[in-house]
Amino acid sequence: MDSELKELYQQVILDHNKSPKNFRVIENATRHAEGYNPLCGDRIDVYMNITDGVVDDISFKGEGCAISKASASLMTSVLKGKRKEEAEKLFEKFHDLVTGKLGEKPDTDELGKLAVFAGVQEFPVRVKCASLAWHTMINALNNKTVKVTTE
Ligand code: ZN
Repeated sequence: MDSELKELYQQVILDHNKSPKNFRVIENATRHAEGYNPLCGDRIDVYMNITDGVVDDISFKGEGCAISKASASLMTSVLKGKRKEEAEKLFEKFHDLVTGKLGEKPDTDELGKLAVFAGVQEFPVRVKCASLAWHTMINALNNKTVKVTTE
């Protein structure tokens, strides 16, 4: 990864960890799921309201490391207003990105701001931190009420 992207990655993590976006509970959310990453101890709840197949509102709440929190923050800001299918597609892309499947210089057009998480692939133990919010979001989206763990 080039140093510019690396710097951006660190900055984004710091910013979103310090002042996370959509860090609240949605009262009467139509979708909700809990996520837990036992490796690191991250716990994230994702709340969503879906109207006519569109993510009307999305938020998260929980305790976790800087990466899990920053990832959830960025995820919620990116997914708001997206269609359900787009959210699922982005999940797959994001997952491929952090697990290194897109390579070191990924095509980031579709990913936009999420591209900074390419930095995670250099830290395998952090992949679960970065993807926890996404796995939880997918379960909320599919209306599963089971608890998600990354194990
Ligand atoms: Zn973590």
